[in-house]
Amino acid sequence: MLYDLHVHTTASDGLSSPEEVIAMAVKRGLAGLAITDHDTIDGIEPARKFIEDTGISIDFIPGIELNTDYGEAEVHILGYFIDYDDLKLIDRLNYIRQERYHRAEKMVAKLQALGCNIRLEQVQQLAQGDLIGRPHIARALCLKGYALSEPEAFGKYIARGRPGYVPRYKFSPYEAIGLIKQSGGIAILAHPGLIRDAVIINEIIGMGIEGIEVYYPEHGSEQEFAFKRLATEKNLLISGGSDYHGRGSGKKREQLGISGIDEDIMGRIRAYYERKISFKLNKN
Ligand code: AMP
Ligand code: ZN
Ligand code: FE
Ligand code: FE
Repeated sequence: MLYDLHVHTTASDGLSSPEEVIAMAVKRGLAGLAITDHDTIDGIEPARKFIEDTGISIDFIPGIELNTDYGEAEVHILGYFIDYDDLKLIDRLNYIRQERYHRAEKMVAKLQALGCNIRLEQVQQLAQGDLIGRPHIARALCLKGYALSEPEAFGKYIARGRPGYVPRYKFSPYEAIGLIKQSGGIAILAHPGLIRDAVIINEIIGMGIEGIEVYYPEHGSEQEFAFKRLATEKNLLISGGSDYHGRGSGKKREQLGISGIDEDIMGRIRAYYERKISFKLNKN
């Protein structure tokens, strides 16, 4: 039985709606999944409602993936079991969404100056009025023929250091971890293999991370082994997921359930969460 704890929907830059993702998870026989959209909780309620309305039996974990920067490194923090009614969380996410809009405006202007005939309205349309991320800009570039695939659009124009790039609003991993925890969630370091730098990984762990994503489509077996050992050494939870974004999203993120964790590891996450809640209740 597999739990995929890293999934994106149309609420951020995924190509499948929350409902489609749930239906697909059932079809693939997943025991559970976490919806972890970048910087937004908007996919959670539709998924939850769909499960309720259809009577589907699946273990659903409300989650998020906060995109942060640490020096030159891009660091993503996953949050599981977040309280998506938490006002502080909602407030902060609204601000980030607004900043992302302004950033998209700047990126489109830069790309236009480079001779790419794309428009902000089209990018907004591709984002379906929701949170705007670089993948939406990449898709606009592809549709207008400036690149053949999203990864190519990144490599040519909008990856860090490329001419159309504009940095995100500076959000630190330290604040992201705090925000997840204060909303009752568990903070997990996403795909440490993409960070590569062991010093940075250790520094993020020092900020109060509670677990690390060991199983990830782009982690090789040596990395998997090393991160598992790191988790054991530091007494951290182990997690895993596919980072599903939908078909055509590029890289290895097109298949729901391609990575994940088994019942036993999920049980440890759940037990940790339950201890955390009961501790909080006892304190009040
Ligand atoms: P943003 O938070 O708007 O800067 O967008 C970051 C997201 O873009 C990441 O979470 C990935 O989903 C995607 N991304 C980053 N680099 C690449 C790349 N080289 N190719 C395809 N997608 C990428
Ligand atoms: Zn994404
Ligand atoms: Fe990520
Ligand atoms: Fe992701």
